[in-house]
Amino acid sequence: MKSYLLFATFALVAAASSCRQSAAANNESQSPPTTISRGDTIAPDSIPLPAIADSIDYDTTQWQELTALDSTIRLDLRYATTNNFVGQILYDCARCFLRPAAAKAVVAAHQELRTEGLGLKLFDCYRPRSVQYKLWEIFPQPGYVADPRTGSIHNRGGAVDLTIVDSTGQELDMGTAFDFFGPAANHQYTKLPDTVLVNRRKLKALLQKHGFTAIRSEWWHYNFTARAYELADEMWPCPVE
Ligand SMILES: [Zn+2]
Repeated sequence: MKSYLLFATFALVAAASSCRQSAAANNESQSPPTTISRGDTIAPDSIPLPAIADSIDYDTTQWQELTALDSTIRLDLRYATTNNFVGQILYDCARCFLRPAAAKAVVAAHQELRTEGLGLKLFDCYRPRSVQYKLWEIFPQPGYVADPRTGSIHNRGGAVDLTIVDSTGQELDMGTAFDFFGPAANHQYTKLPDTVLVNRRKLKALLQKHGFTAIRSEWWHYNFTARAYELADEMWPCPVE
């Protein structure tokens, strides 16, 4: 009886150990990481870290992640948070993609501001068309939200919502918040303090110099007009924490 118990205990321990190993193996085979964080510790016998270029998970002939071009650009992608006019998270993560030429133009504008100790902060970049459908469902107001059947320039990767920040990341006063729906957000609205008008003109002149055009109703929105792009609904994985 004693030896039977001993054998049974040994068998149980061996089985439990085997389960842990197979669970670990399953985890590895079921969900391989798409990127490897450079700070992670890796076992000596694991594969070497890929070159940085290998971890790019998008077609670079079609898209450019903005912060990969210039990591000093600030992001406050509101649709990746509940801090937006619909109060809902619409993006899985805060990655800012644009068509490559548009991304280069934003970076050029940002670098010009850097010479003055300022910079750009992006509120929105490329917006997948499926997100446009969600926005339209919640707020079907032409003039503020583009009809997803025709799509917006955001859905084509050629529009940005942005503002200017100082060296501490503080936004310059633009008179209204981002996504303020009312006359005070219009470029033509002039019943604002001089500093606000100066700041808006500064953003507009800078973006126009780098190939963007303003729209009437939103001081924060600019379209890159050098090229026309197709509507898109691509999405990319979120970085592994
Ligand atoms: Zn916009």
